[in-house]
Amino acid sequence: MISLYDIMEASNGQPFGEPAAHIFTDFCFDSRSAGEAQLFVTLKTDRGDTHQYIREAVERGVLGVLCTRPPDFDTEGISVVIVRDTEAALMAWSHFVLGKLGTKVIAVTGSSGKSAAVQAISSVLATRYKVHTGTQDFSGPLSVPASLAKLAPEHKFLVLELGTTQPGEMAEMVQAAKPEVGVITHIGHAHTNRFSSLEQIVEEKSALVKYLSPNDLVVLNYDDDYVLEMASESRAHAVTVGMDRFGADLMAYNVVVGQTKTGFDLRYGSERFVGRWTPWLGKHLLYNVLSALAVGLHFSVPLDEALKAITDLAPLPGRMNPLPGENKSLVIDDTYNANPESTMAALDWLQAVAEEGNRVVFIMGDMDHLGDYSQQGHRNVGRRAAEFAHLIVTAGTDAALVGRAALDEGMERRQVRMAYNVQDVVAAFKTDYTLGENDIVLVKGGAATHMELVVQELLADENDRALLPRQGLVAETASHVQATRPSWVELDMEALAGNVRAIKDIIGDAVALMAVVKADAYGHGAVAVARTAMLNGAEYLAVSSMNEALELRDAGIEAPILVMSYTPTYFVRQAIRLDVTLTLYDLDLARAYERIARDTGEKLRIHAKVDTGMGRLGVLPEDAMPFFRHLAVMHHLEVEGLYTHFSMAADDPDYTAEQVKILKGVIKPLRAGGFNFKYIHAANSAATLASKANHFEMVRVGLALYGLSPSENVPVPPEFRPVMSWKTVIAQVKTLPPGHPVGYGNTYRTRGEERIAIVPVGYADGFRHSPEHWGKVLVHGQFVPVVGRVSMEKTAINVTDLSDVAIGDEVVLLGRQGDAQITADDIANQLGTINYEVVTTILPRVPRH
Ligand SMILES: *Cc1c(COP(=O)(O)O)cnc(C)c1O
Repeated sequence: MISLYDIMEASNGQPFGEPAAHIFTDFCFDSRSAGEAQLFVTLKTDRGDTHQYIREAVERGVLGVLCTRPPDFDTEGISVVIVRDTEAALMAWSHFVLGKLGTKVIAVTGSSGKSAAVQAISSVLATRYKVHTGTQDFSGPLSVPASLAKLAPEHKFLVLELGTTQPGEMAEMVQAAKPEVGVITHIGHAHTNRFSSLEQIVEEKSALVKYLSPNDLVVLNYDDDYVLEMASESRAHAVTVGMDRFGADLMAYNVVVGQTKTGFDLRYGSERFVGRWTPWLGKHLLYNVLSALAVGLHFSVPLDEALKAITDLAPLPGRMNPLPGENKSLVIDDTYNANPESTMAALDWLQAVAEEGNRVVFIMGDMDHLGDYSQQGHRNVGRRAAEFAHLIVTAGTDAALVGRAALDEGMERRQVRMAYNVQDVVAAFKTDYTLGENDIVLVKGGAATHMELVVQELLADENDRALLPRQGLVAETASHVQATRPSWVELDMEALAGNVRAIKDIIGDAVALMAVVKADAYGHGAVAVARTAMLNGAEYLAVSSMNEALELRDAGIEAPILVMSYTPTYFVRQAIRLDVTLTLYDLDLARAYERIARDTGEKLRIHAKVDTGMGRLGVLPEDAMPFFRHLAVMHHLEVEGLYTHFSMAADDPDYTAEQVKILKGVIKPLRAGGFNFKYIHAANSAATLASKANHFEMVRVGLALYGLSPSENVPVPPEFRPVMSWKTVIAQVKTLPPGHPVGYGNTYRTRGEERIAIVPVGYADGFRHSPEHWGKVLVHGQFVPVVGRVSMEKTAINVTDLSDVAIGDEVVLLGRQGDAQITADDIANQLGTINYEVVTTILPRVPRH
């Protein structure tokens, strides 16, 4: 329960206007999930100040607002408290409330297993006391006040998870929470991106250990050296729990890892308890159970009573939770979160329980927040899984490294599938990898990957969906992507998958789709786009050069690839070795290719190109017959296809029809002369959308894959969605006096007093300087103008018309924000170019997520 007066007293807050409600049911940190009678608290976040959302929260029924400056609308009927720093105010309130109620606090920290430990401890203490369990929806200091919102005087204990995402938070949290017991589960790679090393993580966690006083208790994992070392830093009474090494105060041995429970014997001093068990799966969760026994002992819960309580532990959503899967398979939902250690632990379990006759399936999504350790962490997981898994399916760019590593370890191609979104993973199980009775399936991934959505689709019973983690919004906002640069490109791979399927619907089953992924898939990232396109029905890939083909082969993509442009002869051997198809349109080049192919003793696959009126690459129609007669005797060239390219498909259907006629005029005599082609193809996106007459056996689609329209005359149908957004954040906001210059050359001067914001993006990112610049961008869902010249990596925008713009607020350069949108076509019009150029000229140094 949250009282207005407690808040004001603890934080020295000032009421703004007449206070109305005095009591609130809960805190609200996200206006989208605001509920009746809550207290909305504005926050500074990575992406901005949430002051701008007060109105929305009030509209949704909150009765109070804690903020740093008065809202700019009428707040009658709402209690508003102004403080200097809302987070500090809530921390002070936590300290105050815990002192007032005298609740004993048990704090759990570690890199993984925290919420399991919290759950186990609560269950053990609940055998004798009234216990309140803190929130597990998010990490960081605010989890402390959030955990107290529903604390009542009758609660003797509060069991709290202290998760840190960056240095310094632990000290802040222990000051507010005043724990009497500290439990350290394990140290590993979680949130490594914000910490410089594992040692720094240890130091952060040890703030809890150091805080405890001599009458307090610290519970340490005896099998984890990092954790064990903390014993020397604490004045509190230390109890160790362990399994692997002899010497822990509470030691489980004879551990039996099973598919439905974990059995063990327990030693505590001279006491022995044999044949005990818990329904939680895996040795790693058993540590948390042991910690709970240790805490219980400290508060006089006898061991046999506590051991009984842990046989009743409720399953933890998303943590090694066994659920009945389709066709009597067993699905283990471990999707709550993932780091390399917790994933290895889950794999240990999987290997231990798999029996002869089981098909072992491992479905893995990206692990987030690993920083520099990401590559190695993902690869290690792949290597480990390859030791025993029969099938590995990955979701996401980082998780693809799991798949790569497994292939490198010698798993076969058909045993490894790399996808880029949840839908494609699910689709794979609907078609190629249908689950069966003997399947045991482990699903794991970082919170941001939302692998629970995969589990959801594999369940036998829809009602079990209620047992999955992350049903609410809060967790989603807490786990947003953290960009490695202040400007980043977001790619919606689900939109891409949808676009590919929409093209397949248009062309029908008889026509093949060649996905054009040249120029790094028009700036969208060739490997991820190629994989997603193939998984959604494309049959061929097209690039513009051998090195682009090489990148795809390097990533393990085995689909056929056509190089659509000139390939120098020195690449021919590589083309043969990598099974890449080349384009031919010249006799001398054909002879040179043939000679090299003959030397290697292998065949080179080619598509011949005819120029039917574009005046670019290709043999002229009148030269086609003699050209093919020569090709016919070059026995090391396998002519698989013949193609041409349209120059007016986006504008003039008559001209395209003319080109089609010319193409047919070329094909007819060739056919009569005995030449046959597996693929004849001509249509790009525009021609594909414009008419079936252009399709032939295959279409070569680029632009439309990315959700963009070839022209106003030939738009993509409404179900196509743009794949790319480009975003940045505000770096500074200031008020300039009238007549003040802005940017190089003083080309802009403020007209009156103006609010100018600086964004950290410039022409070195591809945010164009001249002859025209972008013109406008989106902030708070509104268009605001770019002012002055664009610098190499900074740009000024005029935010005078917006209230409350702050450092960190999101700025959209391309894409949607709220109800407003800047499309690639808008920018193309502004810059005097085409949408193709807009997306392909965002430079590679801008990270893609
Ligand atoms: C780029 C390209 C395409 C794809 O064109 P879109 O308009 O992006 O669909 C097709 N064929 C050739 C030869 C190309 O160079």
